[in-house]
Amino acid sequence: MTDTTGTTDTTDPATGRLEVAALTKSFGAQEVLRGVTLGVEPGSTTAIVGPSGSGKTTLLRLIAGFERPDSGTVRLSGEPVAGDGAWVPAHHRNVGYVAQDGALFPHLTVGQNIAFGLVGGAVGGGRRAKARVDELLEMVSLDRALASRRPHEVSGGQQQRVALARALAREPQLMLLDESFSALDAGLRVATRRTVAAVLGAAGITTVLVTHDQAEALSFADQVAVMRGGTLAQVDSPLEVYTRPVDRATAEFLGDAV
Ligand code: ADP
Repeated sequence: MTDTTGTTDTTDPATGRLEVAALTKSFGAQEVLRGVTLGVEPGSTTAIVGPSGSGKTTLLRLIAGFERPDSGTVRLSGEPVAGDGAWVPAHHRNVGYVAQDGALFPHLTVGQNIAFGLVGGAVGGGRRAKARVDELLEMVSLDRALASRRPHEVSGGQQQRVALARALAREPQLMLLDESFSALDAGLRVATRRTVAAVLGAAGITTVLVTHDQAEALSFADQVAVMRGGTLAQVDSPLEVYTRPVDRATAEFLGDAV
């Protein structure tokens, strides 16, 4: 629940709950989502796995509000944000989104990139904005000194943390991570994933992440959703998906995770 002052009512048990029901989306003649239903409990993490082209990114983009569904509904914290006659655009949803490449603004410094995420987009600065940027850098385990650098002057792992800090600046109820760590090398991926899990867990932020990384799906998530050709073939605990995969492709995907 967000009241008129923009603060989050954490006492409402629905805060951060995501409910997606019978969602469909076509691009031209191509039916990309064919009735997706998914519930994500407040503060929990769901990993979406599945082959390339199965509709994972499209689902995240609909949840974020970058695309409108053809039919079906998206409810966030109990409120309809798409479908059922409702439409709340992305910038009015309490949702953070981190794309695969981080999508930082190359011409802005790290600090300005993060400040862009602050409510009101205080790019110019001000002491309060600067203090908040420092706080966000600390949350994602980055040195304050990095604030004055440009994105290309920090490492890939650091860029991902900056993107996360920018998304956190909005104080989202829900965080969407789209293959956010896949471009990083294995060691950095593990370290970044740990930081992200700790930050989001401590803040109690509901998380939905798209990943190609089996270990990530199994270790990071409370729930794994298996996407196949625009539908969810299975939504279960990691253990259940691992021990009772819905099909052979899922078994093969998870097979080399341990
Ligand atoms: P995944 O994330 O599982 O790889 P996507 O959701 O990115 O799958 O894409 C699913 C299908 O939808 C692909 O065939 C893709 O080409 C198509 N698609 C996604 N976005 C658009 C768009 N904006 N316009 C046309 N086709 C799109």
